[in-house]
Amino acid sequence: MTDSQAPTAIPGSLGTNPVAAAPAGARTAVDVVTPEVVAQLTRGVVGSGRTANHAPFTGKKLADLPESTPQDVATAFERARVAQPLWAAVPVRQRAAVLLRFHDLVLERQAEVLDLIQLETGKARLHAHEEVQALAVEARHYGRAAASYLKPKRHIGAVPTLTKVTELRQPRGVIGQISPWNYPLELSAGDALPAFVAGNAVVMKPDTETALTALWARDLLVEAGLPPEVFQVVLGEGPVVGPEVVRHADYVSFTGSTRVGREIARGAADRLVGVSLELGGKNPMLVLADADVEKAAAGAVRACFSSAGQLCISIERLYVHESMADLFVERFAARTKAMRLGTSLAYGAEMGSLVGERQLDAVTRHVEEAVAKGATVVAGGTARPDIGPYFYEPTILDGVEAPMAVCTEETFGPVVSLYRFSDEDEVIGRANSTPYGLNASVWTKDARRGLAVAARLRAGTVNINEGYASAYGSVRAPMGGMKESGLGRRHGSEGILKYTEAQTVARQRIVPMAPSFGMDDEKYAAVMSRSLRVMKALRLR
Ligand code: NAD
Repeated sequence: MTDSQAPTAIPGSLGTNPVAAAPAGARTAVDVVTPEVVAQLTRGVVGSGRTANHAPFTGKKLADLPESTPQDVATAFERARVAQPLWAAVPVRQRAAVLLRFHDLVLERQAEVLDLIQLETGKARLHAHEEVQALAVEARHYGRAAASYLKPKRHIGAVPTLTKVTELRQPRGVIGQISPWNYPLELSAGDALPAFVAGNAVVMKPDTETALTALWARDLLVEAGLPPEVFQVVLGEGPVVGPEVVRHADYVSFTGSTRVGREIARGAADRLVGVSLELGGKNPMLVLADADVEKAAAGAVRACFSSAGQLCISIERLYVHESMADLFVERFAARTKAMRLGTSLAYGAEMGSLVGERQLDAVTRHVEEAVAKGATVVAGGTARPDIGPYFYEPTILDGVEAPMAVCTEETFGPVVSLYRFSDEDEVIGRANSTPYGLNASVWTKDARRGLAVAARLRAGTVNINEGYASAYGSVRAPMGGMKESGLGRRHGSEGILKYTEAQTVARQRIVPMAPSFGMDDEKYAAVMSRSLRVMKALRLR
């Protein structure tokens, strides 16, 4: 499974929008997903049934996989529960060292997982590499910073010097993690890393269609030193296996649609366990009057069409200042029409496939409905079965308005709608007029203006002069959604502390928190009142 092996098979088909050009990769699914590879990776699954996943490039079956029953899920949690206290007893620096070794292994063996990601999701290799980058950054960050995030903190106590207080961070226990297919490496292993380094075990339910990628990461983490029992994987239909994970978990980490997120939250509420939800978006990009048109047009291509728009932080609404809208649209459309689509397991294609029929149907429905109601197609607008069964051209629509579905609902595909504006206050209001609040992008040459606009946008991340990658890749800072785009954050301190319970340990010295040394209640109350005034005067917090 390395890039140096195997150039024997039929080249991946290539297509462009509209002219063919990208170089063909030589490997195909048959070379990469061998029975030996499947057997090795699926050892990590607790499952007694059978299921399968499919390759979007061809629509054909990729691998037979185990499927988990509710009893299998219970078994996975039991095993994880036995292993977790032993793992939590390992000093944090040793746990962190596993992440740092994992970082090196991922970069060393990236060719293997790039093939798997492409085969399971149908995305272009460059977009698959974004996952490798994100995972390495997270492994480095939590590998280096976990000890300081988790170290016991001293606080000034109720009675300074007499009450000594330490805040400890205890692991929650066994985390139930449910992840989607669109970024199967980053949103499986990437989100599990802070949970592990905080001393938890994880029972993960990746999407079945992209299970091999998640299982590859599990194998590599075990190679890096993670005890295998600490990382259990279960597979199966979301509505069947997902609720079982919620039923057993001490905390639930979910990434997926807002619709399913609500169900997860209800299940967690019934059990009074915590939950973090990373959900959908309808993300706006604002091209202000002073933006660099060429850079904004190139940035819009990345922002709208990475992973064929199947990216939660992808841009689906593009607001352009009217003074340069015509020029911007011309440049953006020219770049979009020149994009090379392809199925090759090599760099070169600029966009890959949609993941499957459901996604293709949703995209087709949004575009056809908009056109039927009066929108115009500036670029793209058609499926490309000549390249692969689920390919759809990168598409720009103009004249979109409510109640067209593409105007208000998340499309989760390579479709962006153009809107013109003249007034900055008004466009901020329009950008915010959605139930979602995940990501936004602002283009301007004026940094101060960009920051001022960003602060008024109701989005968990705002990228200035980039679409999504700057904020997402800045792993020391939190990332997540406002409004219906989520609860909680990944990355930074919030991304690891959510996997812990705060425990306050207070040690009382010399005198108790009560009248003592023969003091009566009234005297004690007076002493305490005086002490409180002194503490405020000393500016204690
Ligand atoms: P989805 O909600 O259908 O599925 C996500 C996961 O939940 C899958 O593993 C699925 O099997 C499981 N699932 C499905 N039904 C379930 C149920 N009833 N109970 C428990 N689990 C269940 O989402 P999807 O189609 O796989 O992913 C696309 C969505 O995810 C988009 O809305 C996208 O915006 C969102 N997403 C958000 C982020 C983020 O970080 N905010 C990242 C990636 C994707």
